[in-house]
Amino acid sequence: MHKIDIDLVEMTMDVMKYTIDRVSATKSKIGKPQKAEELKKLVGETVTPKGVGGEYAFKMWRKHLAKATVPIDHPRHLAFVPASPTRAAIMFDLITSASSIHGAYWMEGAGGIFCENEAMSWIVSLTGLPEGAFGVFTSGGTAANLSAIVTAREHWRENEAFKNQKGLIITSIGAHSSIKAMAKVADVDILLVDTEDVLTGEELQNCIDNLTESQRKRLFAVVATGGTTNAGIIDDLHSIGAICNTQNLWFHVDAAYGGGALVADSVRHLFNGIEKADSITIDPHKWMFSPYDCGAVIYRNPDLAKKAHAQEGSYLEIFKDEGAHGFNPTDYQIQLTRRVRGLPLWFSLATHGTNRYKEAVERGLELAQIAGKLIANKPHVELVREPSLSCVLYRRIGWKPEDYREWTYENHRKGFALVTPTKWRTTSGFETVSRFCFINPDTTEADIEAILNSMV
Ligand SMILES: *Cc1c(COP(=O)(O)O)cnc(C)c1O
Repeated sequence: MHKIDIDLVEMTMDVMKYTIDRVSATKSKIGKPQKAEELKKLVGETVTPKGVGGEYAFKMWRKHLAKATVPIDHPRHLAFVPASPTRAAIMFDLITSASSIHGAYWMEGAGGIFCENEAMSWIVSLTGLPEGAFGVFTSGGTAANLSAIVTAREHWRENEAFKNQKGLIITSIGAHSSIKAMAKVADVDILLVDTEDVLTGEELQNCIDNLTESQRKRLFAVVATGGTTNAGIIDDLHSIGAICNTQNLWFHVDAAYGGGALVADSVRHLFNGIEKADSITIDPHKWMFSPYDCGAVIYRNPDLAKKAHAQEGSYLEIFKDEGAHGFNPTDYQIQLTRRVRGLPLWFSLATHGTNRYKEAVERGLELAQIAGKLIANKPHVELVREPSLSCVLYRRIGWKPEDYREWTYENHRKGFALVTPTKWRTTSGFETVSRFCFINPDTTEADIEAILNSMV
């Protein structure tokens, strides 16, 4: 046993050293994937009856496997929606693991859930939802969207008339793929308004007016997007919310990416109307600087979520009795056993204060404006549309889709940058264009300049 303890201390030190190196590295390369067969050749058999030993396994991780991953927080990782967890949050993610907290019920997780709820109260305060609104942390935006859609559907089906009906939701083609995917999981039909630009109340009303009688009966929810993933576009939440309120439709706002910008004074007005929502999705692992994975779903009336999601079981009753003294996160989303994944966010908020979050998000918005100006001033590139939130769509004049693809792979191979192409609809069809999404406040103007110059 003594020997094992010494090994354990050594391994702990190694892990801490690796962690410190990792979070303080400023000039790391962007890793690139390798084929599974190549990785297997490099590391050999690692899961064996006797084990290969922690030292060897960790060495293989450092030497080969870590390098085959892309650190999403690299300042020149501007693809998809990147992330940039704070060091405080990363360190507390280690604490979250080390503390073995079961985050389903207050009875077991009280201290951790208390912290999560402190962070959640701040997030809820950004939305402007009325007193009583509250939320829980989920594994991500997809799980948050599913939890909200199921809550909405169960609430709708409380009405006997709809008991056996298949529900219908309306959103736009700008909505995230997870809305369509989760509609499938919840077995509800989905109708897409044909716009990738701002969805307006007028367009929504037109769509509703064109429904058949049976479709109108089955319509129970509308999903608007608070910052589309592709272009950072915020739907007209005010007019959409008004329609939902008067026509008794559940109003869900998917702000998984854009929700972080609620803290930024410069763009907060673009979200006006979000306070009319019945539910909202926000991903702290996107623009709230949390490590993976951490999403959030917020409800105007959390009791409706509880009715939809609370699990029953003879072995669970004890939690409900004692746990009734506090908040049970499992009751408000699809998971039972859960990590207290809001805990790293809480520590980071407590460490830095919310003003620092405001500044960091404003910097992402500013970087998009800076990129827009640089693009306008260079002859070989042009903006496809004005930057929206922290997304910038632009074209390299004269490039075909394969040129964008080759350029992306070349930058990735070199470990220089990860910037991926996307598609944007113009009058002549879908055009392949280049896209930046800024999250990391440490991205510099020189980074953007270098990336644009690599397209000459
Ligand atoms: C990223 C994103 C999602 C999905 O969130 P995950 O955390 O990846 O599950 C949903 N909606 C929008 C608008 C997003 O940007």
